[in-house]
Amino acid sequence: MYLNIILQCLLIAYVHSLSAHPVLIVVSYDAFRYNFFDTKLVPNMERLKKSGTYADHLLNVFPTKTFPNHHSIATGLYPEVHGVVGNSYYDPDVKKVLKIGYEMFHYDENIKPIWRLNEDQGNGRYSGTMMWPGASYPYQSQNITYVKDFEPGYDWHKRVDTVISWIKNPDKPANLVMLYFEEPDAHGHAFGPNSEVVKDLIRKLDNITLYLEQQLKQHELTDKVNVMHLSDHGMIGVTPPNFINITQYMTNGTYEWAGASPCIQIVPHEGYEEQIYSSLKTASVTNGHFKVYKKQDFPKRWYYKKNPRSPPILVMADVGYALDDLIIAAPKYAEHFNFTLTNSSEFGVHGYDYNVTDMHPFFMARGPKIKPRHKVAPFNTVDLFNLFTEILEIPQTPNNGTFGNIVDILVEKHGQYSVGSILIISVGGVVIALVLITVAAIITLVMIKRRQNMTTVAALNKRFPQTFQNNVIEAQHLLESEEA
Ligand SMILES: [Zn+2]
Repeated sequence: MYLNIILQCLLIAYVHSLSAHPVLIVVSYDAFRYNFFDTKLVPNMERLKKSGTYADHLLNVFPTKTFPNHHSIATGLYPEVHGVVGNSYYDPDVKKVLKIGYEMFHYDENIKPIWRLNEDQGNGRYSGTMMWPGASYPYQSQNITYVKDFEPGYDWHKRVDTVISWIKNPDKPANLVMLYFEEPDAHGHAFGPNSEVVKDLIRKLDNITLYLEQQLKQHELTDKVNVMHLSDHGMIGVTPPNFINITQYMTNGTYEWAGASPCIQIVPHEGYEEQIYSSLKTASVTNGHFKVYKKQDFPKRWYYKKNPRSPPILVMADVGYALDDLIIAAPKYAEHFNFTLTNSSEFGVHGYDYNVTDMHPFFMARGPKIKPRHKVAPFNTVDLFNLFTEILEIPQTPNNGTFGNIVDILVEKHGQYSVGSILIISVGGVVIALVLITVAAIITLVMIKRRQNMTTVAALNKRFPQTFQNNVIEAQHLLESEEA
């Protein structure tokens, strides 16, 4: 019997275990373009979108690639600040091309991604990252509580189940989880964003979104957990006739290159910079479908030039065009996925300017801190960091985001009064007013009695409403400052 009681207590403790802090899940769907919502393939996501707050799209960071954007989401910083300037880049310090790894995400040791910042606040705050790009490494030499390394193809339902188990952990309940899905990007590169393969993946992602909601409901977490769904970038289809061979304009052995279509980074060997630049520049005029930039000429709004990892020369294909890396990769995709490469074979490309509509990611959120049935204007990927800190109620660190861009998403601003607290304050104000009226009445009656003066009911009435009105005015001031 005792064992039964103990087991029941443990079960109750487990069922009710949840962080005492606000809880946030951020879900990223790689290359889920903002207008995939127009495909009618996502009824569950559509319903979710309308139940909370959404924007028509986000404005992401340049280049519109996965690692730069995921790290900008996690830090609120532009690539020239956090140093993740591409999915791969030439590192002038070690003089070689670096791909994903510890170094990529540790340009500045002082930068704290949101999962590190959350745990640093202590007091029972625990973070979890489910395959989030760049989250497998320690920051400031410390690991967070829950980390699942990237494992392509890892069962999506298991990802969700694990996330729920972190949030419900009785000892260390996570109050922040970053959840990542590598689709539709992974297959979109090989088959293009308009393919049946990608359409099928969009349907599956819609179902996994529903599964997450169902699991939250089953665990009675729906009203307690804030969930944000977003992506890093969009994608467009490019066919082989639009592949441009730029290496023909440079001499072998005079440069290094890194990155992938549509933006290839060129690092000329010493003494070859002008020769390579002028050759590519002439070719760009002749060809007419790509542009060449020197580092100093990168548009300021890219926030891309002030970093030693940024390339001395950048070649950017026009929208709908791709470069040498796809000339190399296309036959490999065909072989790997067993299809015949033709001129109409479509391949997925992203990385263009964030102003290109098809590069836009989506955003939607719902939860206790998110306004229901609400739409906000498109905002920046770097603004998300402020949204995270506000929801988690942790101090902001310096970042490139603008708080004003996201404040309309929130039910309340951290530190101000919620609707509930306004009601409590208002009711409290009325109760205090009534007490004051009673005290004032007693004092008045005592004074009247002392003075043994006769008074009229009218005189008392004149005083009572006055006291009451003053308190109403105070309560109204609270309401007005809330709205300001
Ligand atoms: Zn991609």
